[in-house]
Amino acid sequence: MPKSGIVAVVGKPNVGKSTLLNRIIGEKLSITSPKPQSTRDRVVGIYTTDDAQMVILDTPGLLNPRYALQEAMRATAVRALYDADVIIYLGDATEGMPEPLDTAATLEKPLGAPVVLALNKSDSLSRGNRARLAADGSVHLISALNGEGLKELMNAVAEKLPESPFLYPTDEISTQPVRFFVAELIRETILEQLHDELPYSVAVQVEEYREDRSPLYVRAVIYVERESQKAIIIGAKGSQIKRIGEASRRKIEAFVGTQIYLDLWIKVLANWRKKPDTLSRFGYQLATGNSK
Ligand code: GDP
Ligand code: MG
Repeated sequence: MPKSGIVAVVGKPNVGKSTLLNRIIGEKLSITSPKPQSTRDRVVGIYTTDDAQMVILDTPGLLNPRYALQEAMRATAVRALYDADVIIYLGDATEGMPEPLDTAATLEKPLGAPVVLALNKSDSLSRGNRARLAADGSVHLISALNGEGLKELMNAVAEKLPESPFLYPTDEISTQPVRFFVAELIRETILEQLHDELPYSVAVQVEEYREDRSPLYVRAVIYVERESQKAIIIGAKGSQIKRIGEASRRKIEAFVGTQIYLDLWIKVLANWRKKPDTLSRFGYQLATGNSK
């Protein structure tokens, strides 16, 4: 009987969850960024070997909720934990041992799934620290960057999965609609090009995606909170939005494997991050408690 189930990757912001998922799935599924908290939604990748299939969830960071957006992020992460068959708890090896997951996540109920502890960024460890961490047999030292320890980690996870037929065809890598990734690629491009200027005020929604046209037609709206942010995105004589559009188009073309026409719009939606109704409009799940 093959093994199959849901694997949640959890950990603090910036420990490398998205990088790990990209490495495992081998495609650019979940956006990575040097900035913490860039993953807002739970991304599903599917990893299939000869005898195991894992549906992998990338979770937003486990945060202290400060305003609606972070509340939604945390609720999504917590839900992923209780939905999982196996949990990969990822820490940053250069910061030593992380605190236990149930403390870090301030969970009210114990977790049902086994937790596999992996410490990432082993490539940045000093010899002494590496030896010290490796001495603890319960830890997987890994590097999402150079691949160290990943095979062993995935084997350990596969072993803990329940016996079950595969849930998806073996060639499927994701259950998320392409539109979602297209929006994420645009948002990633904006974060890359305007690092410090517009941290988390940007949401992107793909409003039209037409495969019946050649090149494929994509219309997307960039939502910001203020007119001043809109001006930053447009730039002098439209130079910034042009750069964002070109870089986004190249990434989307690489992802969908065909030429696209990208039609980008910018809209101001005041305080969208603080409003539950606009949050759910962008697909963020709001807190509904920890129950399964
Ligand atoms: P997330 O917030 O947990 O999803 O973290 P990301 O995947 O976005 O990664 C955060 C930062 O850590 C990025 O700059 C990555 O390039 C970096 N990073 C991720 N994995 C590794 C690793 O194995 N080694 C090193 N040195 N850096 C890494
Ligand atoms: Mg991430």
